[in-house]
Amino acid sequence: MIIVMKQGATQAQVTNVTARIEQWGCQAHISEGEERTIIGIIGNGRPLDRAPIERLSGVERTVPILRPFKLASRDFHPKDTVIDLNGVSIGGDQIVVMAGPCAVESREQLLETARVVKAAGAKVLRGGAYKPRTSPYSFQGLGEEGLKLLAEAREETGLLVITEVMEPDLVPLVSSYADILQIGARSMQNYALLHAVGEAQKPVMLKRGMMSTMEELLMSAEYILSHGNNRVMLCERGIRTFEPYTRNTLDVSALPMLKHLSHLPVIADPSHGTGKWELVEPVARAAVAAGADGILVEVHPHPEEALSDGAQSLKPGRFTTLMNHLGPIAEAVGRRL
Ligand code: PEP
Ligand code: MN
Repeated sequence: MIIVMKQGATQAQVTNVTARIEQWGCQAHISEGEERTIIGIIGNGRPLDRAPIERLSGVERTVPILRPFKLASRDFHPKDTVIDLNGVSIGGDQIVVMAGPCAVESREQLLETARVVKAAGAKVLRGGAYKPRTSPYSFQGLGEEGLKLLAEAREETGLLVITEVMEPDLVPLVSSYADILQIGARSMQNYALLHAVGEAQKPVMLKRGMMSTMEELLMSAEYILSHGNNRVMLCERGIRTFEPYTRNTLDVSALPMLKHLSHLPVIADPSHGTGKWELVEPVARAAVAAGADGILVEVHPHPEEALSDGAQSLKPGRFTTLMNHLGPIAEAVGRRL
């Protein structure tokens, strides 16, 4: 349930309402809007009686939240969440580009890519040190060595670093190197992992599972939020359909739908979303036009030699061209790159 306070309700009235909510064994989440304050209630499982709440002074009305996700919902928190990280705002006017190799393979590969994506205007360097691979015989990532290389690339370029964490036990280690923790599509419903990153002190990018609905994605975000981490962003990375010409089907409609349902920033991943480098630029353009707050793109200096996802990785020159083309589209929809 949410409580809508009257316009001009005083701080004392808000404090009184939150104190009552806590007395009833519930949690109160305050969201200060331009005109009025909204207080979201996370219940204790028992139904709440609206009448006594509506009698409290300063309360205009109560509204039940029928959706299963609460903290993630826009009803609960009408204003967009903006995640501020070292001067980069994710979810604000600027479209944040995260780019880099699928996997960290070597110092040369990572540093060369980091310099190129930085020069082209990316704000975040991506690169997997722990890779979720379909085959146990495929390259599994460099582990901590990869994290160290990411930290070195951050040191040199000033880029923020995003990297995947696959196991709850590794959350402290990965957090000690990364600026943003990535939860991969295959881990979206690993609840122990969601719990662990919910307690981490780093922002989290949660990727949509390849066979998950938007509601399941938002329920997974709810796990992270409900464990205390409110710096969560969602990522549409394509879902599995019957179409074999593309690796996945990037669900462009999910971008505005998620923005409508939730206040969390939404990132689009046209690399995994298509699986083909030729399709990355047109689908990235569509994602920006459809309202994505950021784009995740795989870039490799020599895609033909990549140890993972070479077919969908852009060469440096093509990434720079993509960046040049995204700027005018961002401006056309009232954003900037
Ligand atoms: C990745 O970002 O390299 C990755 C493994 O993505 P996903 O979890 O979306 O497959
Ligand atoms: Mn990849």
